[in-house]
Formats: sequence, C-alpha cells, structure tokens
Amino acid sequence: MSVNQHTHAGPPYGQPQPGYQGYQQPAYGGQPLPGVPHAQYGAYNGPMPGYQQPVPPQGYFPSLGFPSKGSPVSLNSDTSLAPNFIGSVRALPTSGAPPPASGTSLPSGHQGYSQFGQGDVQNGIPTSTAPMQRPPASQPFLPGSAPAPVSQPSTFQQYGPPPSSVQQLSNHMAGMTIGSTSISAPPPAGLGYGPPTSVPPVSGSFSATGSGLYTPYTASQGPPPPSVPQGLPLAQPPFSGQPVPTQRLPTEVPGFAPPPSSTGIGPSSYPPSTGAPRLPPMPGPPLSGQTVAGPPMSQPNHVSSPPPPSTLSGPQPGLPMSGLHGPPPPTHPPQPGYQMQQNGSFGQVRAPQPNYGGAYPGTPNYGSQPGPPPPKRLDPDSIPSPIQVIEDDRSNRGSEPFVTGVRGQVPPLVTTNFLVKDQGNASPRYIRCTSYNIPCTSDMAKQSQVPLAAVIKPLATLPPEETLPYLVDHGESGPVRCNRCKAYMCPFMQFIEGGRRFQCCFCSCVTEVPAHYFQHLDHTGKRVDFYDRPELSLGSYEFLATVDYCKNNKFPSPPAFIFMIDVSYNAVKSGLVRLICEELKSILDYLPREGNMEESAIRVGFVTYNKVLHFYNVKSSLAQPQMMVVSDVADMFVPLLDGFLVNVNESRTVIASLLDQIPEMFADTRETETVFGPVIQAGLEALKAAECAGKLFIFHTSLPIAEAPGKLKNRDDKKLINTDKEKTLFQPQTSFYNNLAKDCVAQGCCVDLFLFPNQYLDVATLGVVTYQTGGSIYKYAYFQLETDQDRFLNDLRRDVQKEVGFDAVMRVRTSTGIRATDFFGAFYMSNTTDVEMAGLDCDKTITVEFKHDDKLSEDSGALLQCALLYTSCAGQRRLRIHNLSLNCCTQLADLYRNCETDTLINYLAKYAYRGVLNSPVKAVRDSLINQCAQILACYRKNCASPSSAGQLILPECMKLLPVYLNCVLKSDVLQPGPEVTTDDRAYIRQLVTSMDVAETNVFFYPRLLPLTKADVDSDSLPAAIRNSEERLSKGDIYLLENGLNIFVWVGVNVQQGLIQNLFGVSSFSQISNTLSTLPVLENPFSKKVRSIIDMLHLQRSRYMKLIIVKQEDKLEMLFKHFLVEDKSLTGGASYVDFLCHMHKEIRQLLS
Ligand SMILES: [Zn+2]
Repeated sequence: MSVNQHTHAGPPYGQPQPGYQGYQQPAYGGQPLPGVPHAQYGAYNGPMPGYQQPVPPQGYFPSLGFPSKGSPVSLNSDTSLAPNFIGSVRALPTSGAPPPASGTSLPSGHQGYSQFGQGDVQNGIPTSTAPMQRPPASQPFLPGSAPAPVSQPSTFQQYGPPPSSVQQLSNHMAGMTIGSTSISAPPPAGLGYGPPTSVPPVSGSFSATGSGLYTPYTASQGPPPPSVPQGLPLAQPPFSGQPVPTQRLPTEVPGFAPPPSSTGIGPSSYPPSTGAPRLPPMPGPPLSGQTVAGPPMSQPNHVSSPPPPSTLSGPQPGLPMSGLHGPPPPTHPPQPGYQMQQNGSFGQVRAPQPNYGGAYPGTPNYGSQPGPPPPKRLDPDSIPSPIQVIEDDRSNRGSEPFVTGVRGQVPPLVTTNFLVKDQGNASPRYIRCTSYNIPCTSDMAKQSQVPLAAVIKPLATLPPEETLPYLVDHGESGPVRCNRCKAYMCPFMQFIEGGRRFQCCFCSCVTEVPAHYFQHLDHTGKRVDFYDRPELSLGSYEFLATVDYCKNNKFPSPPAFIFMIDVSYNAVKSGLVRLICEELKSILDYLPREGNMEESAIRVGFVTYNKVLHFYNVKSSLAQPQMMVVSDVADMFVPLLDGFLVNVNESRTVIASLLDQIPEMFADTRETETVFGPVIQAGLEALKAAECAGKLFIFHTSLPIAEAPGKLKNRDDKKLINTDKEKTLFQPQTSFYNNLAKDCVAQGCCVDLFLFPNQYLDVATLGVVTYQTGGSIYKYAYFQLETDQDRFLNDLRRDVQKEVGFDAVMRVRTSTGIRATDFFGAFYMSNTTDVEMAGLDCDKTITVEFKHDDKLSEDSGALLQCALLYTSCAGQRRLRIHNLSLNCCTQLADLYRNCETDTLINYLAKYAYRGVLNSPVKAVRDSLINQCAQILACYRKNCASPSSAGQLILPECMKLLPVYLNCVLKSDVLQPGPEVTTDDRAYIRQLVTSMDVAETNVFFYPRLLPLTKADVDSDSLPAAIRNSEERLSKGDIYLLENGLNIFVWVGVNVQQGLIQNLFGVSSFSQISNTLSTLPVLENPFSKKVRSIIDMLHLQRSRYMKLIIVKQEDKLEMLFKHFLVEDKSLTGGASYVDFLCHMHKEIRQLLS
C-alpha cells in the first residue's frame, strides 16, 4: 500500500474544519455565559463538506457534546465570569476553551504525531493485510487540527519532575531476593519524625506503627532460603563498605511454624500459613504442569516498556532484600551485635542511598557467603517503589503519543500524561485491559491465574487535544452489521469478493455488503474509502441509530431532570434546603446540551418531600407555582402532568419563584420522618407519563422510617464485623429497591443520590436503585453549611452538567475463543450479555471479565467490540462503538510481560468488593492473597530463570502487585477500623465498583506531595513520595489525596514563615484544623499550594474534602490511615511485611 494512494481521502478528516472545532464540548457548560467569547468552539457548521461525497446519506457529524474533564481551567477567568463556579471541578463553557497557549506548544507535538503515525505503526490492524498507515492527507485529522494550541501543563503534569531523591534501583527490580525467613524488622522509624530513631523495634514506643508487631511473618516464614541477603553496606553505617557475609542455612529455621503468639500480631491480618481454609478464586489446578518453560522471549509487539525483558530472568535474579534478616522475633534470644545494627540503621538508612546502585550490580555471590546473617531490616528502599515505577513510565512514555494501530500494545500507565492517536483500536481512555497478550488456551489462563478483564469507560472524557468519536450516519438503513453475531462494522472486518461481501472478524460469518455501502477494494484488499470512514479505520466512533434501535420503535423524547428535595426538619435546619434552592436557580442554565443547540433540550421538574410528597406545577403561563400534595404514599401517582416537566427558559420566572418559596414554606417544619421509596416511584411515574428517560436528583437526609413502601429500620450492627454475618451489612435489607430499580431501568430513569446523614441511613439499601440504574451516589456525613457546602455544590454542579447517556444498553462482543462472562459496575442485567443502565455518565466504568471457550491463535489474536446504545442529552439515539485487538500467546512469559498492574488491581478490588456480599470478609481477603500468590508463583515457576527458592522474583510488569494488593486488603471495606461506619463501607464499596483505573490507582495508593518542596515558579507539582510515615519530615508540609479527600499535613517543626504564608497565623498551635479551604493569601507559597489543590480537583470526578492535619494532633490518626506502606492501626500489614508474607505464600505454592 502506498501512502500516497489515498490522498483523496484527506479532506474528510482533514482540513482544519471549522465545524470540528465545533466539537463543542459543552457538557460542562451547557449554554455559553453571556459575553463570553465562544470562538474556539464555534458553532457547529453542519456536516463536513468532505464527508458528504464519499459517505452515502449524511456524512459524519462530529459527535457532539462530550465534556472535557481534562481541559485546563483558568480559575481566574472563571472568577470574573461566573462567581458561583469558582473552583468548581468542571469547566464552564468558557473555561472549556483552550486558554491562550502557554507552556507546551501542541502544534509541534502534532508534527511528531504525524510522523509517528507514519513510521512507527507497521503492524496495522490485523484484518487489513497492509500496514495501516494513514496517508499524509489525512493528517490534519490528527489533533493537530484541533482548534487551538492548548496548554496542557496545568492539567497533565500531575507529578512534576521525577524526584531526584528517589533512588533509582527500582529500574532494576526485575526480581528480588528475599533471603530470609526471619523478616521481622520494624519499619524504619523515619527521618526526624516520630519516635526516636534509635529505639529498638520491639520497644513499645513505636506503638502507632507497631514496630513490635512485625513478627507475624517471622516464624512462619518457611525454610530459610540459601540466598544471602546482600549487605547493603551503605544502608547500614556500622557495616559500611563490608560485604556482609551471610547465609542462612535452611536448617537454621524450622520453618512454617505458626507465628508465636507472643509476637503481638493483633487481630491477625493473615491466616496462618498452613491449615487456614482458603477459597481459591478459580478452580484451575494451581500451577499444574510446567508446560511453559520459560526464558522470556523477545517480543516485538511490546512497545517500549522498560526495562527490557531480559531483566526479567536474566543474570540479575533480583535485588536482594538486604535487610531481611531483621531482628528475630522476641522469642529468639537476642543476638550479639543486633542492637548495634539497629541503632545504626534506623533512621539513617536513607542517607547513604546513592551508593546502593553500586552494591547491586554485583550480587553474584548470593548464597555463597558464609557467616551469620546480618540482622538487618528489610530496607523499604530496596523493594519496588510505586513512585519510581510511575516516574519511569512518565519519562519513558510520556513524551510521544500513544498510537493505537498496533495490536496488543500496552498503553502507558494511567499516571502518565500522554496523548492518544486512534489508528484502529480504542484509546486506553475508553478501554484498559489486565493483559494485552492473552493466553491461547484456557489451561494456560488457569495456570497463570491472571484474570482477563477489560475496564471500559464508554463515554470517557477526552482531553481537548484528542478527537471525539465521529458520528456516522448511514441513514435509514442503519449501521452495517454481521448477519450472524450482529457485530458492527469495524476496522477488523475483512472485505472479500471485490468488496461485495465481508467476513466477520468475530464469528467468521460472511455477510453481503449492502448496495449503498459497496466500495471497491484496492490491490491490498482494502476498501478505497478506508480512510473516509471512521468505522473502517478508527477504534472508536458512533453511529446514528435508526428507529429500530428505539423503544417501541419510536424515537425518544429528550430526557428530563427531576430535582427531589427532602424538606424534613434536619434538612431545613442545617440550611441545606435553602442552599439547594439557591444553587438550582443558577445551575439550571448549565444543563447538558448538544453542541449545536442554543439551549438544553432537557426539561426539569421539582418535588419536595418528608412523609408526604409535594409536586409543583411550574408551567410558564402561571404567575405563581402551584403545589400539589400527595399524602397517600402507598400507591404513588403523579397528580399533574401538564406543567410538571418544563423548559427552563420558558418557565424561568415561575421556577425562580418556586425556588425562593420552598425554603420559606418549610422553614418551621417539625416533621422529622421521611419516605424514600415513594420518592423514586414518583420520579419514575413522572418520566413514564412524559414518555421519556431522565435522571432524578434526590437530596436525602435520613433513614426512611415513615410508613410507606420501602420503609427501613435501623439494622446497623458493628458487632457483625468479622463474623459470618458481616456480609449482611452490605446487602439491602429489603428487595423492594431491587424491584424498583428494575422498573427504573426499564424506563430509563437514572437516580443520583445526595445523602446528608447525621446517623446511619443504610446506604447499602438506599443505594440499590442508584447503583442499578447507573447513577451516582454522594455522601456528606454531618453536613455543615460552612465546611461542606463548597464540596457539595461542586459535586452537584458537575453531576448536573456532565455528559450522560440515557436508556443505555451495552454489549461486549468477542472473537471466537473468548467471551465475556462476568460484569462489574453500576448497572442492571436481565440476561447474561446485556448491561443495562438507565443512565451512563462520562465517569462510569463497566468492568468485563473474559473466559476462554475455545483456543485462540497467535496469528489472529483476540478482538473485543463494545457497543453502547444510548440516548443523548438531546434525545438522539446513538451507538458508540469501541474496538480493541489483543495479542495471544502460547508462552506464559508473554502474558506476564504485557500485563497492566493498575488495571489488574482495579479488577481485583471490584471482584473482592462484590465478594463481600456473599462471603465472609476474611475469606475474600484470603482469596485475593491466594490468587495473587498463584499469579506470582506461576511466573516464578515458568518464566523466571532458575534461582534459589529464597528469592522473591516478581515480573517486571507486576512488581507493584504486592504493594497495591496490600492496599486493597487494608481498605475500609475489607478491613475496617473502628471509626469506619457501616455506611462508609457500603458507600466506598459502591464507589469503587464504578471507578476507572486512574481512580482506583490513587484511591488505593494515595498521592503524597511535599508541598514545601514545590517550586513556586513552575507549573509542575512537587515530586510525589511514598506513602509512609518515615518519608515525612516534621519540618515540612505535605498534601495527600486519594480522590475523595485531600489532607494537608503540617509537621510540628515547620518554619513559622511557611505557616504564616499558608495559613495566615503566626504559629503551629494557631492553625485551625477545622478549615475546609486554605485562606487566600497573596504570597507565592499560598498561591502555589492553592493552585496545586485546584489542579487536583480538576483531575477528579468528585470534589475532594480538604482536611488540615497537624502533626501529633488527634486527626493525625485519620491521616495515617492513608500512609498505606505502613502497618495500619487496624492490623493491616506494612508493605515490607506483606511482601514477605506474599513470598512465603509463593514458596508454599512452589514447594
Ligand atoms: Zn459475526
């Protein structure tokens, strides 16, 4: 194929088309604010001229209306335009527009883009025999033609420059050696923080982090491996420079003894290594058959993922865990020299780090050095660091676009800022997989225990530099599909017989090409209109659906939003009702709209309720709104049809009047009881009557105990924790809401729930309808106007404005050999294949697990096609299609080399969080540990080069699996602390189920930034550090965020000047820990910190709660809960301990 051959194809995608600039991304904006220049997103100009020729009926329309969550927002500019929206998480129309170029200049980047596309993508799409090379003429289609140069630094440079202080060893951590069976050293006491650094681990003074409690793994640590912990001379000043000759002979340790009870393991976070019942998550025989031997093979498809495969099992079997031979468990007699070792090592370990590098490369003598073990602790710096992995990926892969033309290519990490160029496979923003190279056979898959799953975010927001999916209109005939499996036309379909038929890439069935769709093939067998048609050349695109795809064969009406406000005593007294009504007055002008529409097509309605419901007639012809009360809640009906759902502009004055009156009407209410079921029923009935889909926004404060359908009782019982009945806390207490949810889904009635509880209100039950309709849930416990209104209002604004598809059905088709078998997320399923959602917004993901039903072949690979049928916010019925091709392998090493641990963790967390509904939490934890141990053991057995059993060897792509897994195990759902409420756990469980990979990544391993290290003159963030108390210095201020909260931690020794600059007070003691925002102060440090916080808010789908934590203050316990590398107060293991535990588990599997 010649690249020039298709130059004629250029115009369609090409030419900076005014209309494309109009890819208006209005979802955050709805209508432009008055007086705001709207040029960048100029009006949609209709179909591209270039499209009309080659494409039969109407040509492509840009798919309008998806928000750009990532678009940089200038807060300053917002300030002047829309005071109400300062600091909000989503961009208003104006801020959605690219700001004046600053920093990175994209145009030049796009040049590289084009070249990349031309030169590097040789494999093309599997079904096209020729390499998929986009002709030059089509290059303008690339984001290079995007409306304006966009500055991305503020949005994307999330982590700033790599931390210079982080030691570089992790690069080489292809494997590591855990040489010891007696790993019992406590974590380092930290640098200048916490208790005296020289305190021996077993002393009581480490109570918070429980250094004395590290022995759990000690005694049960299996026979000591012959490998010798390498002396890390510099980490251990007393031994500086000496190779530490150590080898523990296997005989030295009896092995596998249960942990001595005297070690203070607390509520054991892990079962004894033997004898504990396990629930193997999959039936496959663990590690049976070593059929796959394996030295890692070279892998052409694997693009630039550092480090080279050879390190996986090459001559470097791995880094020794040097400090492994920590202090023996208390039951052992103290060894001479021991204390000295500790004294020398604690607290000072890190200083000599730079020399680590020198110590490792050699490592040849492991296992051969005689002598007593050096009683060193396992140095946290010698185990895989999430920070390092993130930094490495950013520097290796963040500089060039990720081009999707290559099958099975592993994308950069979610923490890396990169642009995506669609060349035939869906962007990783839409689909991420646990592995991009899947085993050819079921046996292999079972052997590895690596789950095969895709995390799909069908309506994901794209950064403004990337092109939204094109909308293809095939007119009345609708999209072209396979006759048998009904897969949609996609780049992998193979045209044959001169283009008259095509063979399905999913089921191999041959289908006649409809006459209107016929096109000739070129000499490579590719249609000559290949580049003119998104569905032939791109991974993601949309089809306009015909009436056949609509309910009752009728095109849908535009959706409606119904706001339903609890006006019981608590809601009124707290000021909530007034706040909501005030906010609605302005927010109604920002309803989602199609980019080319003057105003939103969404109609609105209002209901208030306590024990009874009040409906409001806000018809435009009325002078005043009218209220109708329904007190018979047992059989809910809607008392008015005409005038309930209205156009905002037409009824503006009546609505404003209503919103003014509601707080007054209920100001003196004494009603404390509420109903809940009838509220949803009312919304549902209203939508039914209006024959449309829609969304209910319910603002609710209490357990619905009033007599009504769906009435609940308080059944909270924390005593059930750690019992077999714990699962009931996660289950709804009645099936009423499940049945209601089913009706809601049938109508396309999505329920978003804003909860303001002062006590238990049974999130597990109230959330059922929200969950099954694809809605969102927000919880503001002990809501206080002063501290929580910003967060609530920002969430509400974003929730109202964000892009959402209604009445959605998603199906994932796969090529022969695998099929989708399991689904996780917020949806309803009435059969085994169709995922139904009353609403699906841009933040929601659906996770799909695949299983083999036949053999796969390396040649043809495996294909996924996700098709989402939905109704847009203007009532247009559409199909969004995402395609992804994966490699298949016959060697396990290929599987392990193309895994994505962040996605794996996302899947495992969801799997576990669902598991708690049916199994004891402990069993779920054990099952997770067991599965991961099997994954790693299989690698060790089949892929790593032979080495001592004492070595822990981790696959490069999974070296963070243990640390992240430990975070999941320690999370509130699986291991709650005493302060975590039942509602909190149900809430988190529900949130995580819909999270994308980036969200779970930061949720389980929060981002910790040293604010005092920030460069106030740059846009970048300070380099993140690892989540451990020992990384904190009492002279610094840190920020920790996990997607739900932002903590600002202030050390006791922070300079007074910094405190003054940030908090506006003169001393540490004067800092108020009740602040919910930082004061606005005119100095560089304050500005910098506030800009960092604003930037973080923009990256998250929820507005995070800001919590100020002073060192040694009570709240610090809460903060420490998020230092996930440390031992947790609730018994969760430290990273170091958990790694040792995993090692033990793996060794058991291998022995
Ligand atoms: Zn087919």
